[in-house]
Amino acid sequence: MKSLGFKHRALGVAVLPVKNALAKDAFVCRPCVEDLVTGTVTEVRWASMTSAVFGTVMAHEVAHLLGINHSLFGVMHERWSRDELVMAEQGRLLFQPQEARTIKSRLRTRMRVPYLSGAANSPVSPR
Ligand SMILES: [Zn+2]
Repeated sequence: MKSLGFKHRALGVAVLPVKNALAKDAFVCRPCVEDLVTGTVTEVRWASMTSAVFGTVMAHEVAHLLGINHSLFGVMHERWSRDELVMAEQGRLLFQPQEARTIKSRLRTRMRVPYLSGAANSPVSPR
């Protein structure tokens, strides 16, 4: 498992598979994100920052499912600073260029596997 946290508190977890299986389960702790933001910004900004950080944690965990490891900067930084939380709120906490390229490539690969793309489970064609 890989986890993202702030001051030793996990905000999310990606369950990594054993052997050659594809990772597909990740969890984000919404109350943990809310607690983190509560101590970080004023009440006026609480809702916007909570939503932004929650979404960024989701992106971080999905990247783990695609095999992306922690880095020193950006979305994949293991422990975000207050400045990075502000960057998340402003939409400026991003993947590094190589991480973005790898994510795109791995998503394209996964989309070719019918049972992962949803094509095999599509109930009925749209009319
Ligand atoms: Zn992580």
